Amino acid sequence: MARIVQKFGGTSVADLDRIRNVAQRVKTEFDASHEVAVVVSAMSGTTNQLVEWATTVGAVHDAREYDAIVATGEQVTVGLLAIALKNLGVDARSWLGWQVPIHTDDVHGAARIDHIDAASIDQRLSQGQVAVIAGFQGIGPDHRITTLGRGGSDTSAVALAAALKADRCDIYTDVDGVYTTDPRIAPKARKLDRITFEEMLEMASSGAKVLQTRSVAMAMRHNVNLQVRSSFTDAPGTFVVNEDSIMEQETISGIAYSPDEAKITIVGLPDRPGVAAAVFGQLADHHVNVDMIVQTASSTTKTTDISFSVGRLDNEKAVEIIEKNQDSLEFETIVADPNVSKISVVGTAMRSQPGVAKTMFETLAAKGVNIQVISTSEIKISVLIDAEYTELAVRSLHTAFGLDEG
Ligand code: ADP
Ligand code: ASP
Ligand code: MG
Repeated sequence: MARIVQKFGGTSVADLDRIRNVAQRVKTEFDASHEVAVVVSAMSGTTNQLVEWATTVGAVHDAREYDAIVATGEQVTVGLLAIALKNLGVDARSWLGWQVPIHTDDVHGAARIDHIDAASIDQRLSQGQVAVIAGFQGIGPDHRITTLGRGGSDTSAVALAAALKADRCDIYTDVDGVYTTDPRIAPKARKLDRITFEEMLEMASSGAKVLQTRSVAMAMRHNVNLQVRSSFTDAPGTFVVNEDSIMEQETISGIAYSPDEAKITIVGLPDRPGVAAAVFGQLADHHVNVDMIVQTASSTTKTTDISFSVGRLDNEKAVEIIEKNQDSLEFETIVADPNVSKISVVGTAMRSQPGVAKTMFETLAAKGVNIQVISTSEIKISVLIDAEYTELAVRSLHTAFGLDEG
């Protein structure tokens, strides 16, 4: 007998037939005498609709009320799945975040899980009841409902798997595993049997939304046995594993893209200590997340230019903050390009293999794609390019690194 956490995403619970299909999958594990906790997302499209309502109803945008609204999609699906399970003769009950309870901090809209008091669910599981738990939500220190950020049900599932000491955490979604790149934009993408936590972390944080980044970090920390698989077929999925369980890797593992980025360049800043600290300090104080940064000092004048990227939604806010501080920062002008995308090549093989950057840059050059900003980590190289070339860049790099199917 094993204890299993199964998580079903939005497309897997998109309508009543699919919810009945999910109930069957849960029943299969239950009938094999396993203890099963199920985490579900809202029906696909629902959270988008709720976010739109919450952000357009009026001018005063209160993050606590935002959470009260956007968390409701999951309340519907837990109830429906519990009913569908009972109709199959499986004892089940629904649990909302506050009922578990899943305690979070008070950063409404992007809360972090502090701890989960899993005693009640633990007891029900051992009595043979299936727990159907709402993903994406928790309860804050102010006793208000919180949400974990978009895609947060993955993190709910992994956190519950850790708290319940589950033997497995299976993430069921609309693709049958983690691919070498998003199969939606690269038809030649290949499914990976295994990927390391570190690579998955870099892929997710570079835009591969098949798993929420925080869920991967959490699974890595708590050694959760994590698998991504399809809710529509029985094909084996992708296991996310420790690096030592994969022998020497020869190629890069994947290519990720994040199409919604903006690039901002501050031209003619004084070239002296404290300037970068002042620029990025201002942005951090206003909760603007900065990703890539390059600074180039002029050798002839005593000035420097700084380019950095932010999420497209933060572009205007970031420009406004910098412009407001033009007198103290003493720069000449600021230029923003809201239409760039970030393309990243990821793989632990990079540690031992030279030439990955060369292949990447030559491939993009051959397609006439201009690289605007470059950044690297030990196992990742990312570039910013004009968003128009996103698909072309991903597909050509996929081919250049020998990742194409067949
Ligand atoms: P869910 O609603 O089940 O959480 P998501 O839409 O959040 O599903 O994530 C699944 C989607 O992630 C896939 O449909 C796919 O388009 C996208 N995706 C992006 N990169 C990858 C990748 N490398 N491998 C698999 N899927 C990916
Ligand atoms: N329903 C939430 C969202 O759409 C959480 C999730 O699906 O993981 O972001
Ligand atoms: Mg998701």
